[in-house]
Amino acid sequence: MKYTQPKLPYAPDALAPAISQETVDFHYGKHEKAYIDNLNKLIEGTEFEDMELEEIIRKADGALFNNASQAWNHIFYFFSFSPEGGGEPDGELRKAIDEQFGSFDDFKKAFVQAGVGLFGSGWVWLSRDNDGKLFITQGQNAMSPLREGLTPLLTFDVWEHAYYLDYQNRRADALNALWDIVDWDIVASRY
Ligand code: MN
Repeated sequence: MKYTQPKLPYAPDALAPAISQETVDFHYGKHEKAYIDNLNKLIEGTEFEDMELEEIIRKADGALFNNASQAWNHIFYFFSFSPEGGGEPDGELRKAIDEQFGSFDDFKKAFVQAGVGLFGSGWVWLSRDNDGKLFITQGQNAMSPLREGLTPLLTFDVWEHAYYLDYQNRRADALNALWDIVDWDIVASRY
């Protein structure tokens, strides 16, 4: 199967000022495109060629895992945002957040802290297990909660390429700005 890069459901300048058009163009247009191109090259003529992407992520190692997982992670990341995003979640997800983290504000603090505390490149994740229990986890480099049997709900990219053009070394500012564009309807639909 040849993987293609889905077109973003918003204009490249629509997430500004949280994420600038320049960052969207480089991050989604160049970095994410490269992961997908590499993935397509690496699976050609192998046992992975006709596998679903999630299955490749669970089974592959090395360069194939890295490129498959990064291809998936970036689509998941960019499709969690909307120019009309922000605000607060409600429903069952909100109930679980309040029960497990104390409040929505406490959850946001813990999530950003996990992202800021990740040394080097990677991702911070909110996931659920099969019982609906929530987890905030850090993943180095391309690491995915799919490898740990969890269902991802939300991720913030903490690789420098995700924020350096807009925020330079200010990772906490970059992460906190994303709360203004998170589409909680999409995140809640994954719970
Ligand atoms: Mn990235």
